Amino acid sequence: MVLVVLDHDGNKLRKGTLEALTRARRLAEGLGEKVAGVLLAEEGAPLEEARKYVDILYTATLGPYTAERWAAGVLAAAKEGAKAVVAPSSRQSRTYLGRVAYALKAGLLEDTLDSSLEGGEVHATRYAYLNRVTQRVKAPLPVVLTVKPNTTPLAEPLGTSAEVVPLSVPQVPTVEVLERVAEEKKGVSLTEANVVVTGGRGMGGPEAFKLVEELAALLGGAVGATRAVVDAGWRPYGEQVGQTGKTVQPTLYIALGVSGAVQHLAGMNKSKYIVAVNKDPEAPIFKHADYGIVGDVHQVLPALIEAVKKL
Ligand code: FAD
Repeated sequence: MVLVVLDHDGNKLRKGTLEALTRARRLAEGLGEKVAGVLLAEEGAPLEEARKYVDILYTATLGPYTAERWAAGVLAAAKEGAKAVVAPSSRQSRTYLGRVAYALKAGLLEDTLDSSLEGGEVHATRYAYLNRVTQRVKAPLPVVLTVKPNTTPLAEPLGTSAEVVPLSVPQVPTVEVLERVAEEKKGVSLTEANVVVTGGRGMGGPEAFKLVEELAALLGGAVGATRAVVDAGWRPYGEQVGQTGKTVQPTLYIALGVSGAVQHLAGMNKSKYIVAVNKDPEAPIFKHADYGIVGDVHQVLPALIEAVKKL
């Protein structure tokens, strides 16, 4: 079987999971194997939705997330005979899939843009050096593979409802979660948004982000921030785009008062259309922008909002 880690938000499968399912189906087809899913939950999980996408569904409720627990859950399912484990790439998957690969003595192909089966090996493409080059990599089976968001068509339901197999997950010595403070979620998720409006240090202060929020809301998008802004405490870390933040690939990326440092570009330079507003005509961001406006954000942004309102 090819095992897919079915990442979800408690109610719904995440978009990245539907991409991972497409990749898993392609591998399974080449191998003549079934597609199994593993649905791990802290409490609730979208069981009925998950059953529609796989041939067999392994489930376990594990309590608060820790990397050790999640690795043990995926391994319990993988030990049923997985030739490959496919998961959406996320900050969380990075913390536990290395353990899974190690335990399975499998190669780990992370953040892949595509993947295929060639002569019994899995070949994949991924970015390296801050997205400046792509590299082709390969690993023999068994393999653990993660799928970079927004690279793959979304899987459709199979039109069947899979058998559900509860897993017996061994207790592992683990970190105990004493308290958890959830990040406040507003609007669309940054990594899944079709439009991202990012404010940089050029916004001048946290209050100016009200207008960034307004433009994002008008366009049905999400707010992003540079590290300079997050480090200054103007915006939460969850909004940081870049090498040490999130990777986004929306159709439209609007960068307001962002210089375009290489570490920021690493998280957004695959966006389809990039619009930059900066008062410095020499700002590096303009080299990557499809449309550039040289001007003061405090004048340009209100004008943009008014223009969008008239659409
Ligand atoms: P600045 O570089 O200060 O740029 C502000 C821009 O705003 C300037 O171009 C200026 O001309 C313009 N401006 C100023 N006032 C106005 C105005 N009124 N109207 C219009 N334009 C105006 N950065 C990230 O963003 N994400 C990361 O994940 C990240 N990871 C990093 C990892 C490492 C290891 C390191 C070393 C750095 C990382 N950085 C990251 C930081 C990065 O190098 C830059 O420092 C940061 O991206 C700069 O943010 P900024 O563009 O908001 O600020």
